[in-house]
Amino acid sequence: MVREAAGIPLHQDAPHHWFAGLLVEDAHDWDPQLQAIGTEDDFGFLAFPQGDGKVRVYGGYPLDQARRFKGSDGPRRFLDAFALACSPKNAALVSGKPAGPLFAYVNADSWTDEPCAPGVVLIGDAAGWNDPIIGLGLSITYRDVRLVSDILKATDDWARVDFGAYAEERAERMRRLRFVGQITAAIDMEFGEAARARRRSLFERSAADPGLKAHAFAVMAGPESLPSELFTDAHRARVLEG
Ligand SMILES: Cc1cc2nc3c(=O)[nH]c(=O)nc-3n(C[C@H](O)[C@H](O)[C@H](O)COP(=O)(O)OP(=O)(O)OC[C@H]3O[C@@H](n4cnc5c(N)ncnc54)[C@H](O)[C@@H]3O)c2cc1C
Repeated sequence: MVREAAGIPLHQDAPHHWFAGLLVEDAHDWDPQLQAIGTEDDFGFLAFPQGDGKVRVYGGYPLDQARRFKGSDGPRRFLDAFALACSPKNAALVSGKPAGPLFAYVNADSWTDEPCAPGVVLIGDAAGWNDPIIGLGLSITYRDVRLVSDILKATDDWARVDFGAYAEERAERMRRLRFVGQITAAIDMEFGEAARARRRSLFERSAADPGLKAHAFAVMAGPESLPSELFTDAHRARVLEG
């Protein structure tokens, strides 16, 4: 609402897949130290234990399946989709209970060219969000809070604050994270034989050449920690095309 009132345009990628999240409880047989990610048939999943038999699970599926998990039994059918041959331990998730609502969103990244206008500075999702496939939404938001707070605390004259450094850092940060999100979506959330062959090819090639997965360090260490050559069409082609 504030972004629109300030006339700040929001750009958005074309959606690539649906992505839904759910909290599961009573999954006591899930190893509380085990985080799992996998893709099989037309479902890609992620599971993150929260302790006390609770696990946060996410699932991605094709864009033409908008109604797949709709309806009052949607959360149950969503959990049933975790029964995958590639990850037999998922049985512990399937036997758990949905402990919250199931919301599905398209994955698409969005961004603003300038997250500020006179009297307004946008942070977090309002300034543009990253594909949740790499799970960085809160990290992005907290960094925004830190950068904007530091700028505000450095001056007493809030009528003339310059947020240029924040806007510049955020634009490059989100460009790099969008790049990593797109590669991750292409590998983890595409379905069918060609996608399967590409996943297999990447896993086999990266065993011999770990640099093929170097972009993934952007997720854990921050996108600024990597050289700019990793965020290029050439690196994307090396990863996706071999
Ligand atoms: C499916 C999915 C999975 C995700 N998984 C992860 C994950 O694993 N890890 C992670 O870090 N991030 C994840 N994210 C992203 C993360 O949820 C967001 O990036 C994060 O919540 C953004 O925080 P925010 O404060 O900017 O916005 P929000 O969390 O949306 O908070 C904005 C708040 O403002 C309120 N509001 C809006 N308009 C008004 C108004 N006019 N007046 C008053 N209040 C208003 C809203 O009700 C809301 O409570 C995921 C997102 C999705 C869609």
